[in-house]
Amino acid sequence: MYQLPLHQFESQPTPFYYYDLDLLADTLNKVKQLIAGKPYVVHYAVKANSNPVILQQIAASGLGADLVSGGEMKVALQAGFHARHMMFAGVGKTDEEINLGLDNDIACFNVESVPELEVINSLADARGRVARIAIRVNPDIDAHTHSYITTGTADNKFGIDIESLPQVVELAHSLPNIELLGLHFHLGSQITLMEPYRMLCERINSLLDYFESRNVRFKMIDVGGGLGVDYVHPDASPMAPFEAFFDTFNQHLHLREGQQLHFELGRAIVAQCGSLITRVVFVKENRNKRFVILDAGMTQLVRPALYQAHHLVQNLSAPVDAPTATYDVVGPVCESSDVFAHDEVLPVTSRGNIIAIRSAGAYGEVMASQYNMRPLPPALFSR
Ligand SMILES: *Cc1c(COP(=O)(O)O)cnc(C)c1O
Repeated sequence: MYQLPLHQFESQPTPFYYYDLDLLADTLNKVKQLIAGKPYVVHYAVKANSNPVILQQIAASGLGADLVSGGEMKVALQAGFHARHMMFAGVGKTDEEINLGLDNDIACFNVESVPELEVINSLADARGRVARIAIRVNPDIDAHTHSYITTGTADNKFGIDIESLPQVVELAHSLPNIELLGLHFHLGSQITLMEPYRMLCERINSLLDYFESRNVRFKMIDVGGGLGVDYVHPDASPMAPFEAFFDTFNQHLHLREGQQLHFELGRAIVAQCGSLITRVVFVKENRNKRFVILDAGMTQLVRPALYQAHHLVQNLSAPVDAPTATYDVVGPVCESSDVFAHDEVLPVTSRGNIIAIRSAGAYGEVMASQYNMRPLPPALFSR
């Protein structure tokens, strides 16, 4: 259904990112359909892809924005997101970033430590404002994803331990320039099983019971994001498992009267609509290996080098019935980790062929670098 238009690519200089805006629109519609009529609010995690065209389309669809820096706040405002639909997370918010949030009156600061809570209170006081906050709780749940993208276990830097939560809630209530809206959680990323989310629901249910028995009720629970996509079959599964995801919370999380449930989805919204389009520079044979050397590398898409991620590699130029061969697909950067795939079976590939590296819409373009003095990749859109 969502085709990559090879004829448009052949005349273009490579590498570049290509975004299918129809798939993005269908994804956004699906999410909106599934949350309609429920007390659910979805924020898009801007860090997954902050290309202005992508951001504008997501802002126009009515989703809020989940931010991790002042820079993201600025691009989100420019793209048309309303400050009152912005959540600001991050363990190291600077005074300047906090003030930017206060001046724009953003919906909520997701606070990750006691010192941060105190600083937000005093900066809000200096501006005669009250800052709305949620406390980010470390739920100590292992989402069984790659260790570099696990954020909800006790030994990483994110959030406040459950044991110290009652004191931090009390402190937040005592600070005059703080309005505590609720609790925030985030398990990690590329989570494809619903079990960690079900465990999170149970953890939250018992926290809500605990606080209710002490007459504390929260307006908002924010369960973060992390929903994964199918990197192996992007054509068969162009959508993340949104039904199963929202159903899990619908079935297992016991929201109280008037409580809103917030989600922060990044990857699941944008991963499948993006591909990195690149050309084969050389095909080279060593004693034991055949290499396809691309004009894109870890400087365009770092996920394979950074997280040992694998993206589907497709030779768009090869005829469908071409014989196959086994290749290591590598980039041109002077690093041994600049490898997209080991022992990949591809149609017999030659110099000049156009290659698509699929599911590259999330944590792709945003993480591009100019290492080796390589230019940042441009973006092309389906319309
Ligand atoms: C990165 C991040 C997200 C989005 O994660 P995805 O895996 O892209 O859905 C949501 N919330 C917070 C706090 C994050 O840091």
